Amino acid sequence: MERVEERFDRTDYCGSLRLSDVGRKVTVLGWVSKKRNLGSLLFIDLRDRGGYVQICVKTDSIDVPEIRNEYILQVEGVVAKKDVPNKNLATGEIEIIANTIKVINSATQPPISTQEITDANEDIRLKYRYLDLRRNCMQKRFKIRANIVKAVHSYLDRHDFIEIETPILAPSTPEGARDYLVPSRVHKGSFYALPQSPQLFKQMLMVAGFERYYQVARCFRDEDLRADRQPDFTQIDVETSFLNQDQILELGEGLISEIFKESIGYEVKLPLRRMEYLEAVNKYGSDKPDTRFDMCLHDVKELMSKSEFQLYKDNKYVKAIKVENFATLLTRKKQDSINLIAPKFNMKQFAYLKYVNGVLEGSIAKFLSDELINELIKMFDLKDNDALIFATGNILRDINFGLGAVRSQLAKELGLIKPNTYDLLWVVHFPLFEKSEETGEITPCHHPFTRPCDEDIDKLFTEPYNVYSYAYDIVINGYEAGGGSLRIYDQKVQEMIFKVLGFTEEDIQKKFGFFVESLKYGTPPHGGFALGLDRLAMILSGTDNIRDVIAFPKNLAAVDPVSNAPYEVDKEQLDKLGIEVVKENKNG
Ligand code: ASP
Repeated sequence: MERVEERFDRTDYCGSLRLSDVGRKVTVLGWVSKKRNLGSLLFIDLRDRGGYVQICVKTDSIDVPEIRNEYILQVEGVVAKKDVPNKNLATGEIEIIANTIKVINSATQPPISTQEITDANEDIRLKYRYLDLRRNCMQKRFKIRANIVKAVHSYLDRHDFIEIETPILAPSTPEGARDYLVPSRVHKGSFYALPQSPQLFKQMLMVAGFERYYQVARCFRDEDLRADRQPDFTQIDVETSFLNQDQILELGEGLISEIFKESIGYEVKLPLRRMEYLEAVNKYGSDKPDTRFDMCLHDVKELMSKSEFQLYKDNKYVKAIKVENFATLLTRKKQDSINLIAPKFNMKQFAYLKYVNGVLEGSIAKFLSDELINELIKMFDLKDNDALIFATGNILRDINFGLGAVRSQLAKELGLIKPNTYDLLWVVHFPLFEKSEETGEITPCHHPFTRPCDEDIDKLFTEPYNVYSYAYDIVINGYEAGGGSLRIYDQKVQEMIFKVLGFTEEDIQKKFGFFVESLKYGTPPHGGFALGLDRLAMILSGTDNIRDVIAFPKNLAAVDPVSNAPYEVDKEQLDKLGIEVVKENKNG
């Protein structure tokens, strides 16, 4: 018996037809997006991955099957010029006059709209993600994402990198987040951790002599979710040997500029600016500064100590930002809303001054002498309707980051950021250590294998928080789009770092003994970085929601809304793994 397989031929994508196609006989395949029945004429907007095209059906002259939204049709017809073009469609100057229409499949009425503009809330869009993704505006984002990856392969291949995969069922990797654990059935009571990054493996690949490695790597971190964070995400992970920090940054920015060019056609001007970490936090109040707008932080401690306000004399730090043209908007209510930021940075509230009709007004104005007022006006070059916002306290980090948060929020609210502009810079020389917010103990800012700056090594034990490192982040529009560091290749320095961190020999052996062992056998100087693919795709496709560029993302409760994972598993399955679940008692 001869088997005849169905074929679904097409000549063109719906969205690709233009005036130059007028007169051609074409066949298209697609989903019914909209239809309008005008009696003897039926208009259908047909949608496929390439866009939309209008089909004109003369219902008197051809057989028209039953057609509803989201039915899949194969339409054969002739391209004709439209009398009145539709400016909203790329194909708006033409339409297809249908000769035959075949229904390839019917569809149930979809629970969410598949129109480009939708007001459906995100929960329901994520539940029916496969319908949400039908929209061209969503598919375009995934094309940008795919083009980023294509640029990565092409650039790194041209620069002699080779792609090497590293394990997913792995030992714990030290990026400072909580691990996702996977139980071993064979070794009951033992667990793999999903990699927070391929960090240890990529360093061992340098020990192995590959010299230039990269990987588009899936990573997993069990952290609280935010608009720009997902538990499983993808990094463009890179490591090289024998390059110093400058050479690595140069390589990295070459890669980033190629990504911009190939994905959105944007020319990034190289070399990128390198900003010292200390400048970033002192001037912009952030280690990921958005420098598309000014509103910089000024140190006003000396000046404000001259006021009658005791707090400014007692506290170690007083800083302020000027917000132009803001005085009339800075109502009591607005001040209350800005003050909501303060407790997150261990402050009670901010103080405000408004410059209106040549007078500085505000709750702290009564503490300021005329001379001091004049000095403030001069220092900030105040113009009518400008406002000043002050923060004070004894911990510089809180003051900087607190005012930095106000700066970012106001820039967004006041529309100070031009759309479609890109601001790229490296922030370099991060501190080596920080105080853990959870435990108050000293922990690595990056990871324990980051190399301290040579000049700071003698401060490791005496002033560990003043030790800076060869660690850098790439910042795009105020987002940390990636980061990396040079790694320690000197055994003695590595041992000192472990000592500062209070790791015992036993800790080291248990956590990453195998890795430390590998470093003994001739480790080349090496370093690298990782770029967050999801964040890059988010920035380049002009959204501020990372879920928009992940096909099946988790919601803010770390649940996959399509499948409802994670879910409870059968006792039998748990028994095989030797696991007993202790249910949380919700009533306490
Ligand atoms: N593994 C680091 C991270 O995920 C990047 C690097 O240091 O290369 O942040």
